[in-house]
Amino acid sequence: MTVSRRDLLATAAAGGALVAGTAAAAQQGEPIVGDKGANIVGPRNRPREAEEPNTLRPPDTDHGTIPNLKWSFTDSHMRLEDGGWARQTTTRELPVAKEMAGVNMRLKTNAVRELHWHKEAEWSYVLKGRARITAVDPDGRNFVADVGEGDLWYFPGGTPHSIQGLESDIDGVEFLLVFDDGDFSEDSTFLLTDWLAHTPREVVAKNFGVAADRLAGLPSKELYIFPAAAPAATIAGDTVHGNGPVPETFAHRMLAQPPLKLKGGEVRITDTRQFPASRTIAAALVDLEPGAMRELHWHPLGDEWQYYLEGQGRMTVFASETKARTFDYQAGDVGYVPRAQGHYIENTGSTRLRFLELFRAPRYQDVSLNQWLALTPPELVESHLKIDRSVIEGLPKEKHQVIAP
Ligand code: MN
Ligand code: MN
Repeated sequence: MTVSRRDLLATAAAGGALVAGTAAAAQQGEPIVGDKGANIVGPRNRPREAEEPNTLRPPDTDHGTIPNLKWSFTDSHMRLEDGGWARQTTTRELPVAKEMAGVNMRLKTNAVRELHWHKEAEWSYVLKGRARITAVDPDGRNFVADVGEGDLWYFPGGTPHSIQGLESDIDGVEFLLVFDDGDFSEDSTFLLTDWLAHTPREVVAKNFGVAADRLAGLPSKELYIFPAAAPAATIAGDTVHGNGPVPETFAHRMLAQPPLKLKGGEVRITDTRQFPASRTIAAALVDLEPGAMRELHWHPLGDEWQYYLEGQGRMTVFASETKARTFDYQAGDVGYVPRAQGHYIENTGSTRLRFLELFRAPRYQDVSLNQWLALTPPELVESHLKIDRSVIEGLPKEKHQVIAP
């Protein structure tokens, strides 16, 4: 609702108390903070504005030019296929995100993401449903596993693999994939059928040691996502015995890990200490109660790629040189923080905020502002901050990743 000056004057005639309330209401959805700003009178997209309150009305501590650090999968192209879909967030969508890229994919029951490989390592978090995954490593050792909500998988770069939806309460599976290169494209993977369709048929026949007429059924183009026969009832039934299993499992039950319970939330960290195969991606799953906050911190080892699973929150990123910018996020959004830039994440909703923090690193690592200051000579901190000594001495020497409301 827009309220014109004439409306306000008319209302003023009706009563002074009412006018204050009306003026406040009129400013609610407008870029007005205190004495600054003015209402929008040109074309506008109100649903989008409502999702970005801190972009429409930035805190006055925001300053300077910071590249966009938000992308919603809602804005990613949907690749629709027989049996499912895929959409991606790469440097094409979020140019700042050079270290990692993400794909959101859905496979209905028995639908298969075709046998394939790619240069990049693939880390995944199962969002809903169940899947059977397979892989074979360069030494001919194989891997088959069933995964469900909150489970991870990790395939090293170049390792051939597949994903198949299993019967579940959502008819198959939906998952998030994260790759250790922002330039990754889900449309540029090496597909089994695409390769064979572009190899002389007599070469394929020679390679398989059969006459070419035995290969009449080979698809003439890629399958990518397609409906397939149901897998065996059990993993054992789908396990081909050859050179034994991969020495380090490619699957891990992240959500089943006991969380670090903190006042205001929970944290689960999964890196090579918990999941040795995941050498290039380290992860944290963070739950924040309403009003709780992931404390002010930064990460020494790499950029942070975030995926919001539930709820809504805001993050301000500090980029040095007076620059800072605040973004709003909700379920299905991607956030990004360049390496070493300071930030917090605050639950601004009325339900749990759950998100993933991902790093292209073998280890999860962060530096806590509170812990840093608590372990620095208090006189020195007081000289900087000019705040009461008791505030400084009250800071926790143990790291508290979550701050209670
Ligand atoms: Mn893949
Ligand atoms: Mn962080």
